[in-house]
Amino acid sequence: MQARQDATARAVENADNLARVIEHDITYTSQLTDLSIQAAVDGAQDADVMRLPDHLRRELLFDRSATASQYIGSLLCLDSRGKIIVDSTSVVPRSVNLADRTWFTVHRDNPKLGLFVSRPLQSRLNPGEVDLMFSRRVNHPDGSFAGVVVAAFRLDYFQNLLSGVKLGPGGNITLLQDDGHVILRYPNDGTPVDENFSGRKNFERFRQTHETSFLGTSGKDGKERLYNFRRFDKLKMIVIIAPAARYVFADWTSRAWYIGIVTALLIVGMLFAAQLLSVEFRHRLVVEQQLRDMTRIDGLTGLSNRRSLDDRLMLEWHRAKRSGKPLALLFVDIDRFKRYNDTYGHQAGDDALTAVAQAIARNSQRPGDIAARFGGEEFVVVLPETDGAAAAVVAAAIHAAVRGLAIEHNGSEHGVITVSIGVACTDTEEVTDALGLIKVADQAVYRAKASGRNQTSMAEPFGGAAVTT
Ligand code: GH3
Ligand code: MG
Ligand code: MG
Repeated sequence: MQARQDATARAVENADNLARVIEHDITYTSQLTDLSIQAAVDGAQDADVMRLPDHLRRELLFDRSATASQYIGSLLCLDSRGKIIVDSTSVVPRSVNLADRTWFTVHRDNPKLGLFVSRPLQSRLNPGEVDLMFSRRVNHPDGSFAGVVVAAFRLDYFQNLLSGVKLGPGGNITLLQDDGHVILRYPNDGTPVDENFSGRKNFERFRQTHETSFLGTSGKDGKERLYNFRRFDKLKMIVIIAPAARYVFADWTSRAWYIGIVTALLIVGMLFAAQLLSVEFRHRLVVEQQLRDMTRIDGLTGLSNRRSLDDRLMLEWHRAKRSGKPLALLFVDIDRFKRYNDTYGHQAGDDALTAVAQAIARNSQRPGDIAARFGGEEFVVVLPETDGAAAAVVAAAIHAAVRGLAIEHNGSEHGVITVSIGVACTDTEEVTDALGLIKVADQAVYRAKASGRNQTSMAEPFGGAAVTT
């Protein structure tokens, strides 16, 4: 935006400078022309001068600067009826009556007009030439109308003035009178001289808002241009310098594209990097979770490990203390497992261990239940809000599930893999802390083993009696 504003400001400044130079040149040339006219008027009002022979009178009225100027087509002195009485172009004045011309009638009808500049006119005396007529009134000594001195100022002057000005492709300069009549269009785009610009969108905008520069669309060719207006007050002329917007913003456009593309690439790069980072970050989160799990999960069986058991048992212990609700614990030990390993190999032992673990897990799935590997072929199941009787039911279900696996075990008196389970509960008197709960359940397992294995043994207050299931 800043660069675009700068480009506009530069173009406006250039246009303004050009307009000032054009104004200065036109005003200066017009003043010279007017001085020649004034000299002729002074002479024409002097009776002595007018009494001189024609050739002397002509020498006196028209100074050399006027007659030598390539831009003044002819300088004429007319009498009150519009007849040429002194003609700069010929000693014998051309016999043409010009009384119908506006530049003549305005002076006849208006004594106080001063210098009058006509609209561009086709020259009647020099066909094919277009002139601006500069005229002043000649008075009799009593102030009555004696005639007019007029200079035909050729439009070639303006053409020459502007030729060589470079405005870039699509740009143009229009010189017009402040009533909207075109004096000159550069470069010539076929706009006829004297065409009236009144009512044209951009010209009216200048007239009404007095804005001197603005971006507008041409009503003629639809192109966008940066219009710059300057009014020459003395001559009642306006110059419009209008370079094409495309040209004014050409540098800016290419730079905007460049910056835009680079910015877009940077954004895409950043998005790509952010995406990579997010993938990496998510990957790390997963790995972190895995690591955290690894510290809490037994690698072989997928149950909670000893560390996790300790933490959660402690938690449940305190919760049970607070709520006054019972907390039961099962100690599960696989029967004759050493022999199983010896008979079937360590790998088969591992598989059996995993199968038993899953059977245990399947039967301790209430919220809060914890199934953990205590070590070797021993498991612990923590059952919150569960009393001894309900724990015995869970134990029975585990027995049934393990037997249901039907894993052959020739070294066992039962022919298949079985477990012995010890049950402890917080309502057992010996239990004073969480570790006590494990200890009591472990002792119950010994009783179950001693009683023939594949059974559950309840700790106090159930009398420590082994219950065969
Ligand atoms: P009991 O019926 O009295 O419990 O006899 P047991 O053989 O099961 O008991 P013991 O404590 O004498 O032996 C436990 C065996 O469990 C020892 C070891 O061979 C086996 N064991 C412990 N951990 C693993 C393990 O991770 N994988 C395998 N395959 N075997 C294990
Ligand atoms: Mg054991
Ligand atoms: Mg065992």
